[in-house]
Amino acid sequence: MPIPPLYATSLPDLFHRTITPATSSSPRIITLNITLAQHLGLDVDWLHSPSGIAFLSRGVLPEEGRKDTPWAGPVATAYAGHQFGHFVPSLGDGRAALIADCRTDDGRTVELQIKGTGPTPFSRSGDGKNTLGPALREYLVSEAMHALGIPTTRALAVLTTGETVERESGPVPGAMIIRTARSHIRVGSFQYAAVHGGLDHVRQLADFTIQRLYPELSKTEGPERYLSLLKTVIRRQAQLVARWMEVGFIHGVMNTDNCALSGETLDYGPCAFMDRFDPMKCFSSIDRESRYAYGRQPALALWNLSRLAECLFPLFDADENRAIEQAQEALHDYDSLLHHYWLAGFRRKLGLEEHDEHDIRLLEHILETMHTGKADFTNAFRMLGSPGVAIGGNYTALRELFPGNKGHFDLCWTEILHRLTLEKRPTDIRQQAMQATNPRIIPRNHQVEAVLSQALKGNYQPFHDLHDALKTPFADSHDGLDAPPRPEEEISYTFCGT
Ligand code: AMP
Ligand code: MG
Ligand code: MG
Repeated sequence: MPIPPLYATSLPDLFHRTITPATSSSPRIITLNITLAQHLGLDVDWLHSPSGIAFLSRGVLPEEGRKDTPWAGPVATAYAGHQFGHFVPSLGDGRAALIADCRTDDGRTVELQIKGTGPTPFSRSGDGKNTLGPALREYLVSEAMHALGIPTTRALAVLTTGETVERESGPVPGAMIIRTARSHIRVGSFQYAAVHGGLDHVRQLADFTIQRLYPELSKTEGPERYLSLLKTVIRRQAQLVARWMEVGFIHGVMNTDNCALSGETLDYGPCAFMDRFDPMKCFSSIDRESRYAYGRQPALALWNLSRLAECLFPLFDADENRAIEQAQEALHDYDSLLHHYWLAGFRRKLGLEEHDEHDIRLLEHILETMHTGKADFTNAFRMLGSPGVAIGGNYTALRELFPGNKGHFDLCWTEILHRLTLEKRPTDIRQQAMQATNPRIIPRNHQVEAVLSQALKGNYQPFHDLHDALKTPFADSHDGLDAPPRPEEEISYTFCGT
């Protein structure tokens, strides 16, 4: 099983520390993503063998994989980060290690990372461990995001370690998740380079990022390429956050160390999908000021991008003022990019093809009506695209989804009908497009918590069933998974690592 070595180790030593992941007493695969393994060219039978388990749990490369490579071994990467607005100069992988680069069947290179390796030089007071609940949660939610077509890290496997880990809630099973990313380089990686290395290190990291993620930019000669890198990352973040907004996803910890330059969703901690629409919805138990609430995500992404620009701008021009101006111009574009992607995404949700200057106001009105009407975000959009509503024009059942304010709904419905008179698209085509855009199911908190609590009791079937269903989020089914939580099932808070 030949596996390419880690590309990340070609960066200067400042950026990583070689580690030896802890040996687990009895590592066991709980779930293996066969489709992803095949996509990565990894032999599924081999992954189940002792050598495959040693690879997944400790990053031990099989003999052939090591043959012609000066392999450094698993590495914990160094990064800094603004956590809730406060700068921490040294964070780094406190419980994770990169173990290999894999080549996908469509020719891309992705990094493989183990999360839950045991202590690393960046563990500070942490134990370096991961536990079963959060590992399965990341597996489920990141794969659901992938199925929704949203850029994200992916999950290859969850293994239990056989050990018990102490957490605030009591003793819990130790676990690891093995995930892939096009790159784990974060805004915090650049902050680390700037603080601990200086401009040369920032340049090396920028060159590495370009080579790895945006090779087309390397054709640009001179400093222009670094400004292009910033612009590209700004565009990717705007695209990503717009996609989150379209499905009601709340990341929960948009710290700069969790903001990937690849534009992939990174770090599934207290993330959650909202049920009832509320622009200020926030689930994370540690986010007391709702800094990372749903509606604040676009602004927070810009805040993170500004931190990236602070690291990169000295590379833009020898004239400092000119360099700052260029960075500011690039950041100024973010708002219109976000607006563009957001509007395009929500137009798609309504099945609209034509552009009308009033669309933004219509969409704001629909969202406000969902808020005052206490409508379930996913179900309201899904029903708008159902044959009964989108083709038959029968809105009685849809109206029932707005119990908080049916009068407001009636006015909004009139506006929608008026807007539809501008559409030339045949109704049935529009309806099909809406069904392919508005998911029937998302990983709802109460469902996720229910399957995790079963898994912690040793019953993994509900977890597998939910995972299977979330692979086809747009398909119709009578599985009941589109049901919002009953009041007693509602989850108010999500936690980082219990
Ligand atoms: P996160 O909130 O997941 O982005 O993590 C923030 C920082 O805390 C990162 O540097 C992590 O590596 C570190 N960290 C989180 N949990 C642990 C743990 N159990 N042991 C060591 N470091 C941890
Ligand atoms: Mg993180
Ligand atoms: Mg985390």
